[in-house]
Amino acid sequence: MTYDKVTVPDDGEPVEVVNEEEDEFVVPDKPIIPILHGDGIGTDVGPAAQKVLGAAAEATGRDIAWMRVYAGESARERYGENLPDDTVNAIREFRIAIKGPLTTPVGAGFRSLNVALRKKLDTYANVRPTYHLDGVPSPVSNPEQMDMVTFRENTEDVYAGIEWEEGTDEVEQVKEFVENEMGFDSTIHDGPVGIGVKPITEFGTKRLVRQAIDYALEHDRDSVTLVHKGNIMKFTEGQFRDWGYEVAEEEYGDEVITEDTLWEERDGEQPDDAVVVNDRIADNMLQQILTRTDNYDVIATMNLNGDYLSDACGAQIGGLGIAPGANFGNSLCLAEPVHGSAPKYAGQDKVNPTALILSGVLMFEYMGWDDAATLVRDAVEKTISTKQVTYDLHRQIEGGEKLATSEYADAIVENIESLA
Ligand code: NAD
Repeated sequence: MTYDKVTVPDDGEPVEVVNEEEDEFVVPDKPIIPILHGDGIGTDVGPAAQKVLGAAAEATGRDIAWMRVYAGESARERYGENLPDDTVNAIREFRIAIKGPLTTPVGAGFRSLNVALRKKLDTYANVRPTYHLDGVPSPVSNPEQMDMVTFRENTEDVYAGIEWEEGTDEVEQVKEFVENEMGFDSTIHDGPVGIGVKPITEFGTKRLVRQAIDYALEHDRDSVTLVHKGNIMKFTEGQFRDWGYEVAEEEYGDEVITEDTLWEERDGEQPDDAVVVNDRIADNMLQQILTRTDNYDVIATMNLNGDYLSDACGAQIGGLGIAPGANFGNSLCLAEPVHGSAPKYAGQDKVNPTALILSGVLMFEYMGWDDAATLVRDAVEKTISTKQVTYDLHRQIEGGEKLATSEYADAIVENIESLA
């Protein structure tokens, strides 16, 4: 692959893909990892995370050959466009990458840069772990009960972007078709209307649910919960549930059992090494995460439910400054925090880089660098539990020490070195 305005580091090696579909790849001791610092506060949290992750790699006997790539504002300066081929090609070629947030430019002609990137890379699973770190203030009494990982489908649902604006010829054509040809007469009120279409496919559902089940099996989790509104949206969300169960029943043998089987055939007794697949209606699930937090483990759901649910889970364990994420395709990982570019804090060396740093933990786990992942998580926890925190947590912690983004990263690096 040739690149126009970025340089491939000559002291690192690419990840070698053995079987793309099966997520089989070999990570060298000094992989080339594309990093995109991002817009707004990306300029603060990007360098902080790079430093911390690099220190953890070194402390575990490895190294990272970082390859800076650009999108959003930094790309417009260099390339005159938002999402240059260089960036997409680098992530495709080197397979494992990390990015900060991107601002969606107003009137850019597309929904969001992140959505465009996810589409181009076909990173179909957005994964958001929510677990509590000791010392992080939380609005609930027992935040340590929260330890969930949400697998949110990334490429379909209402986020697929099939919608028509009110007042256009197209929306009138769709309305006419729905009413007159599909028999939904008098279902849509008269007057201006916007219409969207919500596709849920067997392909999209099954590959997402497979990723969630594989994750549960690999990480010794007890259950995978399919979250849906199938009681109302029977042919989309209900179908997601049915296809999800099909994957569980047809593809995993004894390793996976459904909740019905568990009760009908085993009297509720879960075998030690099996994952139970169950389902919950989305509104009920939003209650359950508060009332029965520790009953839930891995969640597989469609895009919109996943967005609401993971934010609600995130609030229980400390909010946006803490919440990590990653987008996965086949043998491809693009780690990124849940938060956006928070423009009003940009460049102030103030905000919390924990979300991006913990996104790096997900990336390390995906690479099989579990020791480095644990080291980062422990060092972050140690830093916060000694009350060394950025402004967002400082205002909630009595007697804490308020650190700048860069100082906080340095404190984590020190803890990495002392824990290694
Ligand atoms: P945001 O997440 O950027 O910020 C909302 C608020 O959350 C901030 O004002 C701040 O108080 C807090 N916050 C966020 N990150 C923080 C951190 N690291 N430390 C401390 N506090 C933090 O959401 P927004 O204001 O709705 O969006 C701003 C821009 O980001 C928009 O252009 C949006 O499209 C974009 N966005 C990008 C992504 C992404 O790149 N994945 C995700 C969400 C939003």
